[in-house]
Amino acid sequence: MLETLRNIVQEVNAAEGLNDALNIIVKRVRDAMGTEVCSVYMRDEHSGRLVFRATEGLNPLQIGEASLAPGQGLVGLVASREEPVNLEDAESHPSFQLLKGLGEESFHAFLGVPIIHQRDVLGVLVIQQAKRRRFDESEEAFLVTMSAQLAGVIAHARVTGAVQEELRNGAGGPARINGIAGAPGIAIGTAVVVSPVADLYAVPRKQAGNRRAELRAFKAALAAVRNDIQAVSENLRGEMNPEDHALFDVYLGILDDSAIGGEVARLIKAGQWAQGALSEVMIKHIRHFERMEHSYLRERAVDVKDLGTRVLAYLQDEAEKELKSYPEQTILVGEELTASALGEVPRERLAGLISVRGSGNSHVAILARAMGVPTVMGAVDLPYTRLQDREVVIDGYNGIVHLNPLPEVRARFQDLVDQDHAVSRDLESLRDLPCETLDGHRLPLWVNTGLMADVTRSLEQGAEGVGLYRTEVPFLLRERFPSEEEQRQIYREQLEAFAPRPVTMRTLDIGGDKALPYFPISEDNPFLGWRGIRVTLDHPEIFLAQVRAMIKANAGLGNLRILLPMISNIVELEEAMRLIQRGHREIVQEGTDVPLPPIGVMVEVPSAVYQARALARRADFLSVGSNDLTQYLLAVDRNNSRVADLYHSFHPAVLQALCDVAEAGRAEGKPVSICGELAGDPLAAVLLLAMGYDVLSMNATALLRVKKTLRSITRADACDLLEEVMLLEHSSEVLQRLQRLVAETGLQQFIHAPLD
Ligand code: PEP
Ligand code: MG
Repeated sequence: MLETLRNIVQEVNAAEGLNDALNIIVKRVRDAMGTEVCSVYMRDEHSGRLVFRATEGLNPLQIGEASLAPGQGLVGLVASREEPVNLEDAESHPSFQLLKGLGEESFHAFLGVPIIHQRDVLGVLVIQQAKRRRFDESEEAFLVTMSAQLAGVIAHARVTGAVQEELRNGAGGPARINGIAGAPGIAIGTAVVVSPVADLYAVPRKQAGNRRAELRAFKAALAAVRNDIQAVSENLRGEMNPEDHALFDVYLGILDDSAIGGEVARLIKAGQWAQGALSEVMIKHIRHFERMEHSYLRERAVDVKDLGTRVLAYLQDEAEKELKSYPEQTILVGEELTASALGEVPRERLAGLISVRGSGNSHVAILARAMGVPTVMGAVDLPYTRLQDREVVIDGYNGIVHLNPLPEVRARFQDLVDQDHAVSRDLESLRDLPCETLDGHRLPLWVNTGLMADVTRSLEQGAEGVGLYRTEVPFLLRERFPSEEEQRQIYREQLEAFAPRPVTMRTLDIGGDKALPYFPISEDNPFLGWRGIRVTLDHPEIFLAQVRAMIKANAGLGNLRILLPMISNIVELEEAMRLIQRGHREIVQEGTDVPLPPIGVMVEVPSAVYQARALARRADFLSVGSNDLTQYLLAVDRNNSRVADLYHSFHPAVLQALCDVAEAGRAEGKPVSICGELAGDPLAAVLLLAMGYDVLSMNATALLRVKKTLRSITRADACDLLEEVMLLEHSSEVLQRLQRLVAETGLQQFIHAPLD
């Protein structure tokens, strides 16, 4: 049973669009369940009617024609009750209604199950049989399982299918895809698709610049793969039996001009670029093999995929040698964008980002916010490989992508871009003014940095210090660990640029969604695994080199502070402090006279909240990492778009934890700052001010908006507001209360929707 289920889901997953997917479902489910009829009814988004969309066993001429109103007939009953209906004799049920022309008169047994995706009824899956009998429990359970598994695939196929259809129609009509807000702002530009290395499914489709050159490149790649296979074949000749060895000849045959090789060449001659043509042909053949009845033949799909991947790798190697050019307003699009992909585009050309995976709290989104690049994350329904060179509008405030926008839509967004520029110009006048409330309370605003480019941006925005320098960013952009001296130079640049303002350098925080290409960490549950301080305490050689580099870089400046990520118990803090003190002693003994820098603890896991006083007693300062703290308090993976709706930055439990940490710092006489993204939300900043935070550290882009907000209120009012908010029990109520504050203070144009 499990095997059948898995095969059907796999096939449906590989379908081209919704119709294809539904046809596979009805055929394979009918066969698997040994019934006479299997049909799917899909709910029409506009009318709500359940439309007969695919069938095996009923009249196919009625597909797309016959439909039922919500609640009408047995199918309507299944949809409205959101439960299976299993009947021995359908006609005798009071809800039964015969749909003329379907040809279901002779079928008596009926089992319908709803297709539900994210609480939304997409349609109904029905099986029918002539014999009067009730489907047994195991059959019902199988159909429910099947439907639950297929719901996600169907939902995805429904959206991408519609968009793909638009894109196939010549220049393509407009389409809108919802994702998650990643970094605020609007961008209008041209899509450039970045694909991971040798992934046949991620190759962008585009026209060949020079068909002959593309054909030449393809032939060369084919020849290279042929050589590789022949070499392997020779090596193994003595070690395999002749039957198995003959497989190599089959491989070579597949690449022949008379087979797949010829098909790809034809597509290139018709105008497709080599990588796109290869991907299209290979995927078609892989699907063909995957659908074969015989398991031996089905497994050959893996071989075809392997061959295609090898050819693609050669083609990509060749393309890599050519200099990449980026359009002026580049919108970088990818399945999972990485920090290094961003680094490849010249900053002045990078207008926006779209990532199919990830959410607003993924590190790439944080980086984008710091760089002020509008970003949409988690656009899971985006057929991204088809977007190369298309015009795209990104609404980073609401997490929406518009493809091929109509002129009026484009003009509306251009207005918003102009308004944003005007607001930024207005805010610039605040640059050199202090962040001070109307009743004279000063709250220093610092910045989070990582890239060298952040330094200029931060100083331009009037940053008073750095609350979080993410040292992993320079580590991510390299191909090996930077040496102690290389690190010293990087850190020195940061410290010098901000001196005498304080710079808080966090020790290497890798793991979770931050993987170094040269130090892969593969775990089932990376956010609960080997992360942050856990990695560096296990590798004192890496930790010591880093803190020594920081301390040396501080010579003659004295503005360094060291921050420890992911501390979850006292022992970790004590060990880390011991290593830092040792590094410092060594440097002094080597003859450099530098002070021991203040050492701080990031409070980003719940245990650190409960032990905040004990941590504060030992450390020099605390800094709340609200991004991780929220993820761990609410048990919501910050990187998973499926649960992004549950990541509530204004959850009462999060607010309570933030109050408790501020209180713990105060009780121990140690300063407390916050460096998570929450600090950059102007409305959250009002609450943090009232909680007693000593410093707010945020991405440079947010700084002036936060300053504007805090300069427009009194601390006394903020404290009253906090008192009110802390009595609320729902995140939504907190949000509503904060929205009211926006209206009361007349700050609408400066404050966009809060993070939730
Ligand atoms: C945090 O978790 O809030 C934080 C600032 O660290 P990062 O986002 O780099 O994990
Ligand atoms: Mg963190």
